Amino acid sequence: MIDRLGLTAATDARLLHQRGIASVDAHGRRYGSLPVEAFDGNGIVSTHEILRGDLAETLVDAVPSDVRFRWDDTVVGLDEDADGITVSFETAATSRFDLVIGADGLSSGVRRCAFGPDTDFLQPIGLRFAWFTATVDCDLDRWYLMHNAPGGRVVSLRPSRTDGTVKASLALRGSDDRPRHDRESQWQLFDDAFADVGWVAPQLLQQMRQADDWAYADLAQVRMNAFTSGRIALVGDAAYCPTPLTGLGTTLALVGAYVLAGEIQRADGDVARALVRYQQIMTPYLAQAQQLPPGGPAGYAPKSRAAIASSRLSYWAMKHWPVRNLVAPQFAKADGIDLPDYPLTTAK
Ligand SMILES: Cc1cc2nc3c(=O)[nH]c(=O)nc-3n(C[C@H](O)[C@H](O)[C@H](O)COP(=O)(O)OP(=O)(O)OC[C@H]3O[C@@H](n4cnc5c(N)ncnc54)[C@H](O)[C@@H]3O)c2cc1C
Repeated sequence: MIDRLGLTAATDARLLHQRGIASVDAHGRRYGSLPVEAFDGNGIVSTHEILRGDLAETLVDAVPSDVRFRWDDTVVGLDEDADGITVSFETAATSRFDLVIGADGLSSGVRRCAFGPDTDFLQPIGLRFAWFTATVDCDLDRWYLMHNAPGGRVVSLRPSRTDGTVKASLALRGSDDRPRHDRESQWQLFDDAFADVGWVAPQLLQQMRQADDWAYADLAQVRMNAFTSGRIALVGDAAYCPTPLTGLGTTLALVGAYVLAGEIQRADGDVARALVRYQQIMTPYLAQAQQLPPGGPAGYAPKSRAAIASSRLSYWAMKHWPVRNLVAPQFAKADGIDLPDYPLTTAK
């Protein structure tokens, strides 16, 4: 997708160049690793790792200068008629549009306005996740490091592009209806659950309250029979979030945006036809991309000591037959669509 959009040089300049993923014990000793080369550069860690913010900036920079952005606002009402849609915003004045595309992520406000409450579409997978930027006493040496503690608890660190910082995450099995904006209750959850976890967990618990990019999610898939309606379409996580466990969320978002744009261009003004085609093309692709990898949350965050001990072998097994043949299809799913060749005009 990035090649087709003419953004290869811009993204290459921001790649993280990670060396692979490795597991560490409670003392930070490495006991298993999967280098980036293990699946020809397309495995759990790929040759094309880019931070979400860096990718977003690259895409925004490529948008032609006559496109108008309205930052720090949100859609609060949609009123569709035969000729267009009247959109109400939280702060800006009400406006008319031909088409509304909701690309506002897992907790999409556009989805709530146009299609219904989150409970109709969100399917929690039983993993609560927090991530933020931290400074820890640990040299990653460009590796993604992960520590599994009993009880389905995971601490992980990934390289950042800013010297001296890392991208940290804490994950915990289970699901709850903790409010998305109630940070104190989220911090308390991790304080309580990770108090006895080793490695860098104490440093992360100490820093999480000061992180200015703290984010929390009760991971869920978005499953919708229809993610378009009249002149409204959803794209990316808003419509078909597969969860980070699949490693395919960004791919689906980019492919979805490409197909939607291409079909709108192809339909020559017939918006309704374009949206129907977009949904038809994406549906079979989503069916396989939304399947969780073998083991799902239990594979990512095993609960028992025995399961953690056996996972110590998993990186070794993944490099060899027959396990290699079982996991390889997960990494190949990104290419599971025959992309139409739209003559899109691209970056300025
Ligand atoms: C910890 C973690 C690790 C991940 N790792 C990977 C990975 O390795 N590979 C991969 O492919 N994917 C990964 N993903 C998933 C990936 O980040 C998402 O699938 C992808 O970002 C979806 O893009 P999107 O544009 O649909 O939504 P988002 O990236 O969520 O963007 C939505 C945007 O809408 C804005 N927004 C939200 N609500 C409103 C509102 N009401 N009004 C206005 N704006 C709003 C948000 O601020 C945000 O900027 C990971 C996700 C997480 C959480």
